[in-house]
Amino acid sequence: MKVRLDHIGIAVADAAAATAWYRDRLGLAVAHVEHVGSQQVTAHFLPAGECLLELLEATAPSSPIAKFLEKRGPGLHHVALAVDDIRAALAELTAAGVRLIDQQPRPGAEGALVAFIHPSEAQGVLVELKQPAVGVRAGHLATVPLFRGPARTTLGSLELVSLSDGFFALDGGAMFGVVPRTLWERRLPPDDRHRIPLGMRPLVVRGDQTVLIDAGCGDKIDAKCAAIYGLDRQYHLAHALADAGLTVEDIDIVVASHLHFDHVGGFTERRADGTLAPRFPRARYIAHAGEWHDATHPHERNRASYLGENFLPLMDAGVLTLVADGAEIVPGVRYRRSGGHTAHHQVVTIESGGRTAVFAADMYPTSVHVPDPWVMGYDLYPVDTLAFKRAFAREAVDGEYLVFFEHDPSMAAGYLRERGGTRTVERVL
Ligand SMILES: [Zn+2]
Ligand SMILES: [Zn+2]
Repeated sequence: MKVRLDHIGIAVADAAAATAWYRDRLGLAVAHVEHVGSQQVTAHFLPAGECLLELLEATAPSSPIAKFLEKRGPGLHHVALAVDDIRAALAELTAAGVRLIDQQPRPGAEGALVAFIHPSEAQGVLVELKQPAVGVRAGHLATVPLFRGPARTTLGSLELVSLSDGFFALDGGAMFGVVPRTLWERRLPPDDRHRIPLGMRPLVVRGDQTVLIDAGCGDKIDAKCAAIYGLDRQYHLAHALADAGLTVEDIDIVVASHLHFDHVGGFTERRADGTLAPRFPRARYIAHAGEWHDATHPHERNRASYLGENFLPLMDAGVLTLVADGAEIVPGVRYRRSGGHTAHHQVVTIESGGRTAVFAADMYPTSVHVPDPWVMGYDLYPVDTLAFKRAFAREAVDGEYLVFFEHDPSMAAGYLRERGGTRTVERVL
């Protein structure tokens, strides 16, 4: 077995005070904060050379960290060692009679698999074995874990299923607008061509009818563009639908957040005879009338994003309905205009049983974009995006909205949380 030090976990009573101490006394900055709901902890990651310190604060009295603090006070909690194959490592340890806390690996933060060795075996130290997620190797944090799904949850009487149409990559600078690279590169390390990995995550809403929101970029992209965008569709929407127990025939309604190719490329397909046709044979398609106008009257700034092959065949086939701001798609599911990214860009709100979920599309392309000024350089009206985000974040925190991040490489959905003026995302899917 070959291991390398990945991080050191430290239990703290007050993360704000602890991170301030590490910053002021040792010059270590927080690169990223993550709520781990299942463990009831908030983890603050501080890069220190090749490894990280992980400061762990309990978010509830029943958290393992709260119990640790009660028993022993703040201090060293665990040492995490990365391995290439955690199952092989556990088998080797089991064969040697080593006492394990986890016989089988379980999902940890950032898509990793983790398992703990009992401290009685390791001279009183709790040892975490960690198999980092397979991902894009870049930056000193080494990987961006890629999460594929499908992932499902329920919202009142509705079932929500997040799917994947694969991954692609866009220029990191363009994805973060005026935010300096030194701030975003630790969260989403770029590759050697300055691109960051992004997902494409259509969402299925199942109630009396089955609604699909966006459909990824589809399979009509040529090889040259695929290389520019670092397209990885080894696993795509057809696989995801099958894994979710769905077929294209099951979809009743297909909704577009907006008509950019990475959202609606999967709306149509090229048949064997070269003609283009709607991909979901039974579905009614819905787009915003203003967005349709803009997509069919492109200018130099947005022309590369609006490809007629993705939406004109729908109009020709008579299956497309154009609607206005706030339109109800099915009961509980409606458009809400965010503007900003495009003039008529829509998020989709989903309400059932007193709970709310929001498909944020390109308003929050990733969970890294939740700070209000972290607005994409691609946005046509960035100040409008900022205004919408400010108001929306307040609502989402107070109303416990489950927010779906369409382009996040590592997570499908989470809750926005605010503690001590810091806004973070608690991953749910
Ligand atoms: Zn877009
Ligand atoms: Zn997009």
